[in-house]
Amino acid sequence: MDQSVAKARFEKPFTQQEPIPEAAIERAVEIMRSGRLHRYNIAEGEEPEAALLERDYAAWQGSDYCLACASGGYAIHVALRALGVRPGEPVLANAYTLAPVPGAIHNSGGIPVLVEIDGAYHIDIDDLRAKARSSGAKVLLLSHMRGHISDMEAVGAICEEFGIAMIEDCAHTMGARWKGVRSGNFGHVACFSSQTYKHINSGEGGLLTTNDPDIAARAIIHSGSYMLYQRHGAAPDEAAFARCKLQTPNYSGRMDNLRAALLRVQLALLDDNISRWNALYSELERGLNAAPGVTIPERLQHEAYVGSSIQFRAVTLAGDALPALVLRCGERGVELKWFGADEPAGFTSRYDSWRYMPAIPDLPNTMTVLANTFDIRVPLTFDLDDCRLIAKIIGEEVAGLQAV
Ligand SMILES: *Cc1c(COP(=O)(O)O)cnc(C)c1O
Repeated sequence: MDQSVAKARFEKPFTQQEPIPEAAIERAVEIMRSGRLHRYNIAEGEEPEAALLERDYAAWQGSDYCLACASGGYAIHVALRALGVRPGEPVLANAYTLAPVPGAIHNSGGIPVLVEIDGAYHIDIDDLRAKARSSGAKVLLLSHMRGHISDMEAVGAICEEFGIAMIEDCAHTMGARWKGVRSGNFGHVACFSSQTYKHINSGEGGLLTTNDPDIAARAIIHSGSYMLYQRHGAAPDEAAFARCKLQTPNYSGRMDNLRAALLRVQLALLDDNISRWNALYSELERGLNAAPGVTIPERLQHEAYVGSSIQFRAVTLAGDALPALVLRCGERGVELKWFGADEPAGFTSRYDSWRYMPAIPDLPNTMTVLANTFDIRVPLTFDLDDCRLIAKIIGEEVAGLQAV
């Protein structure tokens, strides 16, 4: 092969987010000048930014109550605690998710009961029913992993049948809908992340929403409210706190006013940004679908997703060709994440590397799907030309490896 013919290379980083909007920076500077960064540190007549964020987010999400806290993983932990998970209690969860999810279950004392996924990254309904029955679990922690929302009617019916409370992990679905309903409005509690790589960026941060006043009160006290819970922006009334305030431990994990200021401004821009993400996603999808050997599992009916990442399967590759694809794309500037790797790398790990679980289950379908699944971040710093080039590079490298 003629080495002088340079292959096209992609030059932008996959982890570069857009700058924080100027209005948010200005508000953050005002708060720093005031010195009142702690959410309960308020001047006479002042409403703290963290409380305003809770009010804004509850309104945006369409939920009664909202708690702003330290991270998405922390929100999940507090949600599990607020639902009353006890040490040793089984908690159902789809096996395709990120490490903070089993970590939050562990943190609550629960034991993950991992459920298979189907070929399009949704929780496997039959396995969910089987494990709901065999485990006796009373809680399902459902990750809408990489934005793929399962058949929520089927999941809801199983929860109903077995008396299971659902927590939705919406780290990748802030702003997404299923049959017109916002993700996060299907279960008892929903958890969101505002970590830098999610849909709004405060570096670190989490949001928890619910319509249940008792869950909300317990979550707020768990988050470290002391007896200052009246200073929350979307909290239940005093009666709910009176029922739990002396029984609920403080697991200190509050959000501060600075991060809340960054998020309030970004929340107003989220709908526009979702359109921008989806334009990029469509371009990548078009390009990747045109490449022989590359398949994008069809997205379920009724799903209005946020295309902040894209997954594809390299169906004609196997064995060493799979890690080779990561390597070759990487050499051309295209950063693929591979969920099939035996060893966890970067942010990505497969369920069998969570060795602190009492038992690593055998989930053959999940293993098969993840074996040839690759994942790309879609930051808003990319444009349509970038997406075309990324798809072209992936297509070429898959073709090259097929030929070997
Ligand atoms: C990022 C993420 C979380 C946790 O969010 P943090 O804010 O990083 O703690 C939970 N679940 C999934 C699927 C995530 O991607």
